[in-house]
Amino acid sequence: MYDYLIVGAGLFGSVFAYEANQRGKKCLVIDKRNHVAGNIYTKEVNGINVHEYGAHIFHTSNKEIWEYVNQFAEFNRYTNSPVARYKEELYNLPFNMNTFHALWGVKTPQEAKEYISREIANTYTEEPKNLEEQALNLVGKDIYEKLIKGYTEKQWGKRATELPSFIIKRLPVRFTYDNNYFNDKYQGIPEGGYTKMIEKMLEGIEVRLNTDYFSHKQELDAMAHTVVYTGMIDQYYEYCYGALEYRSLRFETEQLAMENYQGNAVVNYTEYEVPYTRIIEHKHFEFNTSKDTIITREYPKTWNLGDEPYYPVNDEKNMEIFLNYQMLAEKETNVIFGGRLANYQYYDMHHVIEKALNTVKQECQKKPEVCCKKGSI
Ligand code: FAD
Ligand code: UDP
Repeated sequence: MYDYLIVGAGLFGSVFAYEANQRGKKCLVIDKRNHVAGNIYTKEVNGINVHEYGAHIFHTSNKEIWEYVNQFAEFNRYTNSPVARYKEELYNLPFNMNTFHALWGVKTPQEAKEYISREIANTYTEEPKNLEEQALNLVGKDIYEKLIKGYTEKQWGKRATELPSFIIKRLPVRFTYDNNYFNDKYQGIPEGGYTKMIEKMLEGIEVRLNTDYFSHKQELDAMAHTVVYTGMIDQYYEYCYGALEYRSLRFETEQLAMENYQGNAVVNYTEYEVPYTRIIEHKHFEFNTSKDTIITREYPKTWNLGDEPYYPVNDEKNMEIFLNYQMLAEKETNVIFGGRLANYQYYDMHHVIEKALNTVKQECQKKPEVCCKKGSI
């Protein structure tokens, strides 16, 4: 008998398993994939760590979370500073003085602010209700049309007027010459890749791969007191309130006999007509000096049952459906739901770790006599 059956060897499942194991709990981790680490999985190919499910850059402002991940890996000094390509034009991201200068020739923050204020004045909405209105309020029509609209509409397969405004608030807008994509204090990529980091968390814990929870649910449930479920919440409840919408991706990876393909880890293609959103060149995440290079094109695609559900689509319609599932989840006594799919939230890695640690804390409060090890939370 296990204390916890953990469905999903991604980041949430692995942090939970590590913490439970530290407290003397017996865990069984399963995953339907043939590897651990979920979407942060990296695979070494000819000396380059390939981010198999898209670029993953760790960033946080939370010192505790930063110190937490540093127990499992040493992080390099990578700072994400993507370049946006619109037709034959190149711009720095996020939207900053370098972008404004390249677009409009403005040189000072004052000039940039004045330019944007004039742009915004024509389209300003008091209470932005969707991504388009929010973007126009933040940066005006020029940037919206060149760098946001096309990218967003192909990324999500929806018009920007149908998307929630919070998505665009992920991107900083700053009036300094600073191309750092994130505002967070800490940032980097684990040396040797994310898979190694997750393997370290899972050391000494039983892991069964190629095991789909739903193919063996009864038998697996009977093996543990509590289930920690990190898959799709609608699937758990057999879609009884209807299927939630996700956005999927297709990755096309190529090894090239050249040293440097694009000069940067991430290049975004912001016009709608180019079918991929970005090309990543993996070696640049780790300052790798290999002779060859590996690139991946990321194509957004409609999610159909059986596809990988990469992004939740947190619009009103889906959030209404999700709330029904959440109410069912809250009534469960022996099932814990966590992570990006079970919580149906656009979480970054640092959010997932924080949520997993909080979940462990709650478990400890519920069962202090059995859960807390000496000197721990
Ligand atoms: P997952 O990694 O999805 O793990 C869930 C696991 O459960 C999977 O391995 C799955 O196979 C398994 N599973 C599901 N159902 C079953 C079942 N029925 N039976 C058995 N196993 C099952 N975050 C950042 O902080 N920085 C970034 O730069 C960043 N870039 C991203 C880029 C892309 C393209 C995507 C999609 C996400 C990105 N993220 C980024 C977010 C990051 O990937 C997530 O926050 C994190 O991986 C979520 O971890 P998780 O454990 O919740 O989910
Ligand atoms: N976005 C954009 N242009 C870009 C990059 C991002 O319009 O060049 C928008 C797009 O709507 C995207 C959102 O900003 O979905 C969030 O971008 P982020 O890079 O955080 O997305 P993720 O890495 O999670 O795919």
